[in-house]
Amino acid sequence: MPGALFAQSPVPPVAAPLSAWTEIEAEAAKAPPTGYNAYKAALASRPMWKNYFATYANWTAPAPRVPADGRLPNLSEKPRQPRFPLTPRVWPAKPGEASVCLWEDDKVAAVSFGIDDNNAMEVPMWLEISRTYGGIPITWNLITSNIDGVIDRGRVGSAGTWTLWKSVLDQGYQIQSHSVSHVGNPVLEDGWPGPDWEAAESMRQLDTNLPGQHTKVFVPPGASIKFFAVSGAWRASVVKYYASARGSSGIPINPANQTDYFDIRTTANIGPFVADEVTPGTPAWIANNQLKSILDPAHKNYRGWATFFTHALNFKDAALLTTKDPALAKVFDFYNKNRDQLWVGQFANVALYGQQRDTATIKILRTDASGIALDLTSRMDPEVFDYPLTVKVRLPDAWAAVAASQAGSPVPCSVVRNDGATYALVKARPDRGEILVAPKKN
Ligand SMILES: [Zn+2]
Repeated sequence: MPGALFAQSPVPPVAAPLSAWTEIEAEAAKAPPTGYNAYKAALASRPMWKNYFATYANWTAPAPRVPADGRLPNLSEKPRQPRFPLTPRVWPAKPGEASVCLWEDDKVAAVSFGIDDNNAMEVPMWLEISRTYGGIPITWNLITSNIDGVIDRGRVGSAGTWTLWKSVLDQGYQIQSHSVSHVGNPVLEDGWPGPDWEAAESMRQLDTNLPGQHTKVFVPPGASIKFFAVSGAWRASVVKYYASARGSSGIPINPANQTDYFDIRTTANIGPFVADEVTPGTPAWIANNQLKSILDPAHKNYRGWATFFTHALNFKDAALLTTKDPALAKVFDFYNKNRDQLWVGQFANVALYGQQRDTATIKILRTDASGIALDLTSRMDPEVFDYPLTVKVRLPDAWAAVAASQAGSPVPCSVVRNDGATYALVKARPDRGEILVAPKKN
């Protein structure tokens, strides 16, 4: 698979050298006189970036947040082995027993979807596409520098305005960081403040300009021209400030018990992974990572987390998706039709859930006629990792209906039956106080 190839190639430098411009000029000179050319575009925008970087001349990297009580800011290690054994859905045997579900609502597997590079002009169409497929949760991964046209008024149509992105949040979608500059000029001699700045400053801009926003995921930008490739630098900067980051594996499925939370597998090359039939001769890294395998109990990807992303669609009518981008339409159809088994979740929510779950402990405090009391903790920093986990609690047979609370406040609770027994699915946050599941009195 491509990930293995990346691992063998030398780590790209932290920044492009000043001499990159000599090579870019040579490439631009070869370009046809008219039409878009990436090298010419890079040359043309160089003064703009130098002016923008000059406003950050005295920038210093903020100190990373230090969680209280020795809690973890994130799970930044590359897992070399499974963190826990993977099993089918768990059904606690005795009344009063509880377990943390692998995924929200005890779903079999998880899926998510993102859009990179703003493409603000397509937002209305995307909202319609999302509705067409029963409400696909979309994360927009934003390049922050030109929102409101700060550096290039002429391209604000693509970058969008803070007002637009606020309205996207208000409609229940999410926004995360795709860097400040998208390495438009990652040359230290031109004033580029570096990868720490791309990570920390994009977060600051999002959190400052979007009320209620708490940016937690970083999506490293890919260089549009090879001289600006600085991807080897991202992980060290991003783990300082973020809860998770996307990677560049080129495959869509993460094993639930061995996720690298700073190299989340994903791809924008969707077609190969939603084949109706895998034909002989298909490379193994494609054949073994078909989207549907996350629901196949016999497959190594069973119960995994699949994520895809895309950029501009370059059409204006949501109804054209099935003809213009049939692979993406197939992905959304799969998400929507398998909601009984899939957590169709926001990228950040799945990333938070996974790390909380991987470090969670659940204790039964007491069980009596008045209720079942539980203590749910995780090792993650509760200020950042605040997403509810789903806890499954085996109920006494006599309890037909229950209600749940945490620290005295009601929390979501539903009842499911399996093999003659009754279970409550309770959504509660780790480290937020005692969870009580109590029978409802008629
Ligand atoms: Zn991008």
